[in-house]
Amino acid sequence: MTDMHFIKGATSAGTSGRSQNVYNPATGAVTSSVPLASAAEIDAAVAVAKAALSGWANTPPAKRAQVMFKFRELIIKNLDRIAELISTQHGKTLDDAKGEVSRGLEVVEFACGIPHLLKGEYSAQVAGAVDSYSLRQPVGVVAGITPFNFPAMVPMWMFPMALACGNTFILKPSERDPAAPLYLAQLLSEAGLPDGCMNVVNGDKEAVDALLDNPDVAAISFVGSTTIGKYIYGRGCANGKRVQALCGAKNHMIIMPDADMNQAVDAAMGAAYGSAGERCMAISAVLAVGDDTADRFVSALAPKVRALKIGQYDEPGVEMGPVITRESKERVTDYINQGEADGAKVVVDGRGLSLQGYEDGFFVGGTILDHVTADMSVYRDEIFGPVLSILRPKTYEEAVNLVMTHEYGNGTAIFTRDGDAAREFANNVNVGMVGVNVPIPVPVAYHSFGGWKASMFGDHSIHGMEGVRFYTKLKTVTARWPSGIKDGAVFNFHSGSETK
Ligand code: NAD
Repeated sequence: MTDMHFIKGATSAGTSGRSQNVYNPATGAVTSSVPLASAAEIDAAVAVAKAALSGWANTPPAKRAQVMFKFRELIIKNLDRIAELISTQHGKTLDDAKGEVSRGLEVVEFACGIPHLLKGEYSAQVAGAVDSYSLRQPVGVVAGITPFNFPAMVPMWMFPMALACGNTFILKPSERDPAAPLYLAQLLSEAGLPDGCMNVVNGDKEAVDALLDNPDVAAISFVGSTTIGKYIYGRGCANGKRVQALCGAKNHMIIMPDADMNQAVDAAMGAAYGSAGERCMAISAVLAVGDDTADRFVSALAPKVRALKIGQYDEPGVEMGPVITRESKERVTDYINQGEADGAKVVVDGRGLSLQGYEDGFFVGGTILDHVTADMSVYRDEIFGPVLSILRPKTYEEAVNLVMTHEYGNGTAIFTRDGDAAREFANNVNVGMVGVNVPIPVPVAYHSFGGWKASMFGDHSIHGMEGVRFYTKLKTVTARWPSGIKDGAVFNFHSGSETK
């Protein structure tokens, strides 16, 4: 099997002659290869999207919504197939894969309401015989550049809103798991989207740079690591494009002494180890306030982490899969080594895990590092693996200060029974998405998703009304229609002249 590009409604193997292997992370075996587009191929795809733009932009929003309604049905009908495509290339369990498609589907459902969302504003009589109205028009050709960890959901944060707003789209998915996004584009065609409106072009830096430099790309939505996001934001903006770049994270969970400990432990299990910790909203640092809180938390969590059922995505009862690549496994292991060398206590050790029948798979076991301090790299950096660091601040103030002074500001959570503390935290913390007794506070589709600090560059978060704003340009018309009636004249609709 070879993963393909999808341009003008047809799959293509590309002409660059460059490709990259795609793996089943559970076995370590190569399962397909993906073509890597040249700059010339990107430019050709942009030309296709540009040619499709005026027809689609001028299609009434209600008709564009009908495509989204049909697309929604096709996703529901093919949910198992999409989940299988995700799991075989990403490694996450089928339940996790279905979960991500469901979250993406919610954005499609939100996009079905686009006629209402695009309704403008109207002010009558802003001056004598002068009315003013504002409307939102498509920005043009939009490019989406997406990460490996949610190969269906993250593209679905973007293209349903961009297309519903009347733009045409080029998706450059992660080259590590490109099958699901390709299939979604094919379903959009089946739903009636005209050819050329949605294109998928695979590639690496060469393809991304070509998108950043092509003058016919009006806007770029990026989701991925902070290093690449910063680069894309800088180069895209320098080229005059509208850019939103959602980036890396280190999400803290504060556990106050009065928290419901069972609830906190269950929450941390899912939030730290779900999808092998490869989520930008994963909890990777727990700040347990006071030694007693930390001791109770660690002693309740550790047996659960040891009991995690790890395996290939389709094994019965499997709770956690592998990480994405061999390099990723090595990187995560190196971080644990470094944490231990720096003085952290390895309470549960995921290094050296070998599963019978999957000896070459990219598995790392669930890991708990206790007594982590703020200067350690395991705390400062995004590890993006199943590793939870536990810090032991003495007070609430000390805990909040850690969150506030960290480089990243994507998500955070507080577990407490104290409404006052929770309210204080939610109002004052410098993080984009906050949970109160909710470990992964991912906003629903009709709100917007986005972090602060090094977790996002740009002015607009993604989906919800922010999505409408990002994917449209605001135009305001001020119109004077002097009234002839005042002068005793009458309208003549037949002659084309206003008065006679
Ligand atoms: P990545 O930054 O390596 O890749 C993201 C995209 O950028 C891919 O399409 C890739 O092909 C492209 N890319 C990679 N190197 C490039 C280069 N040198 N020049 C131009 N383009 C390049 O990220 P990843 O490893 O695929 O995904 C994991 C990262 O994504 C984590 O940091 C995670 O936190 C982040 N993420 C953030 C969010 C969010 O909403 N904030 C959501 C999901 C993932």
